[in-house]
Amino acid sequence: MSDWYLQESDEVVSALGTRLQTGLDDAVAVRRLQEVGPNELVDRGGKSPWKILLEQFTGIMTIVLIISAVISIFLGDMAEAIAILAIVVLNTILGFTQEYRAEKAMAALKRMAAPHVRVRRNGHVVEITASELVPGDIVLLDAGSSVPADGRVLEAANLRVQEAVLTGESEPIEKMSGALTGKDLAIGDRRNMVYMGTTVTYGRGQVVITNTGMNTELGHIATMLQTVGEESTPLQRRLEQVGKVLAAAALVIVAVVFVLGLLRGEELKLMFETAVSLAVAAVPEGLQTVVTIALALGAQSMLSRQALIRKLPAVETLGSVTVICSDKTGTLTENRMTVTVLDVAGNKVDMKPRLQNFSPTLRRSDPADIDLRKNVTLSALLAGNALCNDATLEPSADEPDSIISVGDPTEGALVIAAARAGLWKDDLTQQYPRRAELPFDSERKRMTTFHPMVNDQKIFSHLQAADPQAGAAAFIGITKGSVDGLLEICTRVWTGEKIEPLDEHWRERILAANTALAGEGTRVLGTAYRFLDDLPANPRMDIEKDLTFLGLVGMIDPARPEVEEAVHNALTAGIRPIMITGDHPLTAMHIARDLGIAQNNRYITGAELEQMSVEELQNQVLDVQVYARVSPEHKLKIVEALQNLGHVVAMTGDGVNDAPALKKADIGVAMGITGTDVSKEAADMVLLNDNFATIVAAVEEGRRIYDNIRKFVKYALSSNTGEIWVMLVAPFLGMSLPLLPLQILWINLVTDGLPGLAMTMEPAEKNTMQRPPHPPQENIFARGLGVDIIWIGLVLAATSIIPGYLGWKAGSATWQTMIFTIVTLAQMGNALAMRSEYDSLLRIGFRSNWLMLWSVLATILLQMAVIYIPFLQNIFGTVALSINELLICLGWSIVVFIAVEIVKFFRRMNIKPSNA
Ligand code: ADP
Ligand code: MG
Repeated sequence: MSDWYLQESDEVVSALGTRLQTGLDDAVAVRRLQEVGPNELVDRGGKSPWKILLEQFTGIMTIVLIISAVISIFLGDMAEAIAILAIVVLNTILGFTQEYRAEKAMAALKRMAAPHVRVRRNGHVVEITASELVPGDIVLLDAGSSVPADGRVLEAANLRVQEAVLTGESEPIEKMSGALTGKDLAIGDRRNMVYMGTTVTYGRGQVVITNTGMNTELGHIATMLQTVGEESTPLQRRLEQVGKVLAAAALVIVAVVFVLGLLRGEELKLMFETAVSLAVAAVPEGLQTVVTIALALGAQSMLSRQALIRKLPAVETLGSVTVICSDKTGTLTENRMTVTVLDVAGNKVDMKPRLQNFSPTLRRSDPADIDLRKNVTLSALLAGNALCNDATLEPSADEPDSIISVGDPTEGALVIAAARAGLWKDDLTQQYPRRAELPFDSERKRMTTFHPMVNDQKIFSHLQAADPQAGAAAFIGITKGSVDGLLEICTRVWTGEKIEPLDEHWRERILAANTALAGEGTRVLGTAYRFLDDLPANPRMDIEKDLTFLGLVGMIDPARPEVEEAVHNALTAGIRPIMITGDHPLTAMHIARDLGIAQNNRYITGAELEQMSVEELQNQVLDVQVYARVSPEHKLKIVEALQNLGHVVAMTGDGVNDAPALKKADIGVAMGITGTDVSKEAADMVLLNDNFATIVAAVEEGRRIYDNIRKFVKYALSSNTGEIWVMLVAPFLGMSLPLLPLQILWINLVTDGLPGLAMTMEPAEKNTMQRPPHPPQENIFARGLGVDIIWIGLVLAATSIIPGYLGWKAGSATWQTMIFTIVTLAQMGNALAMRSEYDSLLRIGFRSNWLMLWSVLATILLQMAVIYIPFLQNIFGTVALSINELLICLGWSIVVFIAVEIVKFFRRMNIKPSNA
């Protein structure tokens, strides 16, 4: 049935076998899930193991190797063919296990990023993953939710939905619950339906799910959405470029070696195999794969530090972040609000001393902390704030008979403050049910709710009696929000006994109280009200006018304890933290100073940002660390100004209007706990604990991973160049082939493979967060990497060629095996020395990377096997070395290690003074 929109909502509900108040029973939901399947679009899924395995064989070099094995078979050289194939298999297993691990890590990340929805099941509101939804589920939506399946609207409070994915219309559509008329309405006209993949931009609502998964409207067009491929990261693209250049260069060299060999009268078959092996050695095919694996495993390690990566390139970009723009509430602070002060005309109630006496938990049996009978204004203020409020009180799951607030912490603090004074939210809502509302949004920074006065239990009656304009008004509208904005729509003020016009005198008095509180770091909300004779069904914003100001509520929100250190670490790492908040500038400045974010007394307000062009902002943005009374769209301007100055910007956000800024930022960061679906979908990274310190930790991980990729590139390429030199120089010295084809393959696939992968597991360098970020577009060979590759390659070649040449001159039969062994062992030394870019191996210790230690030991053992086991000697063309020869090899091969350590020593000497 597709004409749900023609029916009344209760008909739809009963047709779907569900109930608005209780939702489905779990048993029914489970049965339906089996019948209709999970609420998912066709699996866009990751790679299957088979695909990964198959891909291992599609690399050009693997194919070349397989072909040369086949040629060997035809030439009757079975042993050689088997050896080549064995190496291919070994390499495939290595590649497969690594990539499979990476793929599994990515799949786990994707699962974690799957959206959750709030549904009614068994009479309770529970959170489930969107894929578990079935037709008949009652889903709660609010601003920032993405609609998880198709549904019929049952209740809508200013519910607006942006449906551009389906209709192309970018202006949000206001939804309603009544039945529509007219058959075959276009999707965009079905004002009482919501559709999967669209997003709620405003308001609140409840819908009953009509269709899920591929049966949704989005499902019908899903095949069109499947085309989005995995994007490669900038580093991968750059490495691909480098790889191409190196491959071309390598092929030229291979051709030279080939021709030289033939000219020297070497056998054609041998030279062909040598060329193939050398090509395999020289073409850095594995680079990109290793980068992908390093990034995916990096994303996994970031997850263990509570940062969920949604887009792989973020792992890499994080390392070069130069500015972190962070929300204040909940990210820098704990978002554990406690009301500390109530301020009504001429009567300030400091709650702090009282708070000391409270147990942190609230109980029904607790005595009231203020005697409200004496103070009608306070009781109106507390009750008003509890009513104009979406938080509720629920029994705590952890502690028996204690009560906690559920919902927005700011609102929870108000509900709790009221309860402490004996005004319990559930009693209040019974007396004053909500009849209409204008929801909170971060632009106007306030909200209003409307309640009937018929049952008034004297809480608001004094206000009404004293108000000549109120008469016998049937409704009260209660507004709470930022004081400065609220005063603009207030015309009168309640003085405690009567109503007076809100003149300059009063305005200044209220603002002064506001400023004084904000200056102490308190978050301040103002409350005002208005009596109404009648109430439109869907009130509009302009009803928020001619209000009477009632009072102020101040609350504190402690800074997160770990943030101060994180800010310090960011600064040391050359990263500038910036605070962006909707709160009062003085509240913001107080906390920013406490945390070390503010370096001076300057701040910019949203109103000022509004007036500034991006260019004007560019001139100031680097001097100002605090942005207050900001609306989400201002964030975009801040990102643009910083990016124009060449900065790499991480920006946090949680609301629906934060999405554009999150997309624009280099790293968009969403909140895992408080964030909306929309912000998460726009983000590159989600903070599972909403904590600023997590961003800094992720940056550190990003730098470590980038460092390790560089180390791997350095290791792999210096070994490659070393081998090429050996192969190129030997003929000029008159020697025959210094390394046999299978030996070259061995060095590349086994010797380089194991420690190379271990290199991506290397822990962070000690100074990772004590140096400035690397420029995002930096060349891979920057900061000495290219130079290192060249000289290490030369040392590697020299230390193996020289003893080899001497041996050859002396007519020894072992000279080739010695070159082979020296190259392998020298590579082990190289790997160990390269583990740190600055610190000596002794300093970082062998035990800080077990995988590396085992790889090195395993490789040395394997090398010994290849030299001493007769069967392998046959295949690899090696001969047993005497103890003396082995020691000589060891002596020469240690040179690379020593050389790299000496260079690091000089680097440390240079770095220390500039660091101090
Ligand atoms: P931030 O998250 O940066 O602290 P918000 O946008 O949440 O900023 O809040 C900005 C201002 O809006 C607050 O200073 C407060 O005055 C007001 N405000 C916040 N939450 C509410 C709410 N639930 N109801 C009414 N006003 C609110
Ligand atoms: Mg907020």
